[in-house]
Amino acid sequence: MPCNKNNNIAVTLWGPQADLITDDIPDNEAQPHIVIITATRVTMFKGNYQLNSIGGTKIYINLDIPEVEQFKRNMEDVPQQEIVRIEVNQPESLEEAMTKNRKTITELQQLYMEGEENENLKTTYTCVAQITFIHDQECGWMYTSCNNCKSRVDENQYCNKCQVVPEFPIDRYRLIATIDDGNATMTVGIFDKDVEKLIGKPITSMIKISEQENGAEKVSKELQQCIGKKCTLKLKVNNKGYIQ
Ligand SMILES: [Zn+2]
Repeated sequence: MPCNKNNNIAVTLWGPQADLITDDIPDNEAQPHIVIITATRVTMFKGNYQLNSIGGTKIYINLDIPEVEQFKRNMEDVPQQEIVRIEVNQPESLEEAMTKNRKTITELQQLYMEGEENENLKTTYTCVAQITFIHDQECGWMYTSCNNCKSRVDENQYCNKCQVVPEFPIDRYRLIATIDDGNATMTVGIFDKDVEKLIGKPITSMIKISEQENGAEKVSKELQQCIGKKCTLKLKVNNKGYIQ
């Protein structure tokens, strides 16, 4: 297809093909780089065509052929754009996120015992276990947090971290639970949206329940629904005596 000047089209290169561009085009080189990209899949996004690389896509950079020289000459008066390299971290899929650094409870406890200097404490682990107990009677089930940093505000509604009384404090779930993977048990903190997913009720509904007659009892009953649920937990081993 013959193409006029100043036409442009977005091209997305996937996987190893994207690396070719960074490997073969030297940094800060003033000349335009002519890239020939073959065999792409054409898609449409918001009314514009796009090209996507596929397995068979070939990429030729600054190929020494007459067509490329001709094209370069045609492009002489077209303003050039520098090549900007953008580092994109491929967002991990949910499946990846939930199987990454899989540990048993015994292994996690081992890490915890190794102490807080251990570099591993910064890593996120996953663990599959069943919830066997909710410690809502001793530990409560929610806290009021600063809307800025999510830290718990104190009894005067003051956030010690931000050193302000937050304007819009937010109530969040915080359950202390015992989990069991068949070999060992551990106490963990489960927070916020994770609790909401387990119980199927947003915290606002739970607070309403707590304000009813026999509210505490009703809430406790709701929270018991977590018991027996098998879940994949993403955890960080911290130095506060439990793992969250
Ligand atoms: Zn704060």
